[in-house]
Parts: sequence; structure tokens; C-alpha cells
Amino acid sequence: SPTVVVVGAGQAGSDTAAALRSQGFAGRIVLVGDEDALPYRKPLLSKEYLVGDPEGEDTALRPASFYAGQGIELRTGDPAVRIDREGRRLVLASGEELGYDHLVLATGARPRRLSVPGAELDGVLALRTLADARTLRTALAGTGDLLVVGGGFIGLEVAAAARASGVRVTVVETRDRLMGRSVSAPTARYLAEQHTAHGVRLLLSEELTALHGEEGRVRVAELGRGERIRADLVVAGVGVLPNTALAADAGLEVGDGILVDPRLRTADPRIHAIGDCARFPSRHAPRHLRLESVQNAADQARSVAAAIHAPADPPPYDAVPWFWTRQYGARLQIAGITDGHDRTVTVGDPAGGRFSVFCFRDGLLLGTESVNRPADHMITRRLLATGDRSLTPEAVAAPGFDLKHRQP
Ligand code: FAD
Repeated sequence: SPTVVVVGAGQAGSDTAAALRSQGFAGRIVLVGDEDALPYRKPLLSKEYLVGDPEGEDTALRPASFYAGQGIELRTGDPAVRIDREGRRLVLASGEELGYDHLVLATGARPRRLSVPGAELDGVLALRTLADARTLRTALAGTGDLLVVGGGFIGLEVAAAARASGVRVTVVETRDRLMGRSVSAPTARYLAEQHTAHGVRLLLSEELTALHGEEGRVRVAELGRGERIRADLVVAGVGVLPNTALAADAGLEVGDGILVDPRLRTADPRIHAIGDCARFPSRHAPRHLRLESVQNAADQARSVAAAIHAPADPPPYDAVPWFWTRQYGARLQIAGITDGHDRTVTVGDPAGGRFSVFCFRDGLLLGTESVNRPADHMITRRLLATGDRSLTPEAVAAPGFDLKHRQP
């Protein structure tokens, strides 16, 4: 029976192995990871885990007994270093060679490093792995002043967690708004207000130019307009770079992600790529997407497992993208890809922290950003999944509009 080797024991890799078994695949499954940990749930790392909430302590996606019980061979702490496509073998750093019939690349991404002078000082951290989170949690406990570089999801979640621990927090963001293109202006404005209300000093249209230290440890940050601020700890939340080297070295096409077709296959029919490392065509956006979300990793894992297990005519990957973040009391859920909208309609009560922003382009719904309005989120996901494009901005803007009445 065939062997599936999965590279990367994160959300996408672990879910692929689990989905293969739950879909009845009886062949050999090897899950190869470079970290010394069971596959874990990253969303906890910048939220519950970081503030020491007991709910955040159990980070494992699945217990060790799961892999053993399902006959999934888990190799942790042993990075894959080379793909031999001709010989259909994966070579690990330890020297072990794994023959495969199908190879799934689920190598994720790594944080982009700061490029300013002083970026190498102690106390300048990023947050991607469980090891990073452990380091950051310990460091936060002894920190007076935290500087977060970058007003994206990770930076803002870290800022919120740090405020919960009583740390003074400054966020610098080069753009004039938070969250770049991930959310619309009304949602970004709401989040900015939340952070300000919780005592975060938000510096928009401002940039970090240098870090200065004492005895090798960061102490002061220098900003573009000349201001120098105290920083005992710096967290860089300036985006990630997909881990594509393994694929590129094997001659597969990469470019901000490993390029795959609508069925998540590379040009080599035996090799798929999924999760944060993959760039794929989607009917939910006018361009190829590389998404960084649990939804994307989990749904692509299930899709690839099905394609490998019953490969006759696998349907294209088609899941509606969705995402969530939690900052203070606000649970923001995003359904669809709202980037590229030309009109927004806000429904509900932003001042009261319960509203949805419906995003349209050329009169067609792209998606919804909901704060503490989970029904709008769920119904939008269903509308987008069924391809129902009948909801107009005028209908949403009309008095008394309630998406529940449009339930597909
Ligand atoms: P990863 O989970 O990164 O797993 C990839 C694994 O492959 C890693 O362990 C990596 O070390 C390993 N690897 C790489 N190269 C090799 C190699 N050559 N050999 C062996 N192993 C290798 N998403 C949400 O939807 N909601 C959230 O609230 C949210 N919060 C987040 C908070 C944090 C702090 C982070 C970092 C991410 C968050 N995300 C969130 C994003 C989400 O966690 C990721 O999109 C998801 O984990 C991607 O899964 P993945 O398997 O593609 O990548």
C-alpha cells in the first residue's frame, strides 16, 4: 500500500495525517517535523498562553497517544533537508531517507526579521513557535516597556496580552492604519480605538529606525521622526516568509509561496503543498492566495487527504476563507477575502462593540468582518459557499436589515 510523507508537523501537517486516517487511508503515514514538540495550536500562543490563562496551557493539537493509536509515524526534531524527486525519497537531517508515493509539503512560514540597526540585541523577539511563546511569556513578566513593531494580527494580539499583564505598550506601524489590507478601514479604526482605550500608545505613520542597547540588551528605540522611547522588550510582528527552500531546491516553482494548482498540486503530481507555505488559485479572490489561518491549513489538509486517498477525480479546493482574532473583549471574525472592496456598509453598534462591516466590490459581496456578531459571520460564510451573490449594499444599508432573514 502507498506511503504518504508529510513535511511539517504543524496545523496543516497534523491535520493531513489525521484526515487520511479518518477518511480510511490504510497505507504508511510519516509526519516529519523540525521542532521538538507535538504539533500545537498556534492561536493560543498570542492569546491564552501568553497571559498565563490555564486554558492556554494545553497547546497540543492532539495527544501523543493519537499518533501512536492511528499508526502515524511522528518524527520530531528532524528537519527534512532534501527531496529526491526521481527516487521519490525525502532525506532528513539525521540521514534517514523516507520513500514516498505522495509527499505533502506543509512547512509553514517563519517571521520576517527587523532590518534596523540593533535588531540583533537581546530582548528583540518574534512570535511564531511554542519556543518563541515560552521565551516571550517569561520576558513579559519582567518588562516595563514593550515596543511592538507592526500593527498586524500578531503584534496587536501581543499588545493586548501585554496590557492584560500591566506592561506599558507602544505599537509602531508604518502605515496610517492598523491591519494593512486584512481588514477594512472601519474595522481597523475600531481596533485602534480599543487599543487606545486599553492604554496602548499607537503610533501610526511612524517607523522604527534603530534599536540601542546596554550590555547587549535592548533599552531604547529610535523612531523616524526622531523620538527615542524606552523599550526593554521589542516584539517584531512584521509578517512572515513562507518556507519554500525545500521545494525550490527540488526544482518546484515558488514565489511568495510554493505554487500549486486548484487541486493544491505542484507541477510534480506526487507533491502537494498546503497551509501557510502554499500559494493557490481561488474563486474567492481575483488573484492567487497565500493565507495564514487555521481554517486554510485545516481545510486544505482535508482536501489533500481526500485527493490522495481517492485520487480518481479530486474536486478543486474551494473552501471559503475565514479567520478570527481576539483582542480584549472583541472577537473579530472575518468571512471571505475583503481586500479589494470599494464599498463598506456597517451594521450594528460599533460604539457598543457589536457590529459587522459588509464589504462589496462592484456591488457584489466579498465578505464580512464581524465583531461579536457571530451570526453575521456564519451566514456570510454560507452565502459565499453557495455562491449566492444577491445581497446588495442597498439591502444591507436599509433600516431594519437582518442577515438572518437571508439565511440560505
Ligand atoms: P505551521 O503551523 O507553521 O507548521 C509548519 C511546520 O513545519 C513548523 O513546525 C515548521 O517548523 C515545520 N517545518 C518547516 N520546514 C521544515 C522542514 N524542512 N522539515 C521539517 N519541518 C519543517 N490563525 C487563525 O486562524 N486564527 C488565529 O487566531 C491565529 N493566531 C495565530 C497566532 C500566532 C502566534 C501565530 C504564529 C499564528 C496564528 N494563526 C492564527 C495562524 C495559524 O496558526 C497558521 O496559519 C497555521 O498554523 C498554519 O499552519 P501550517 O501547518 O501551514 O504552518
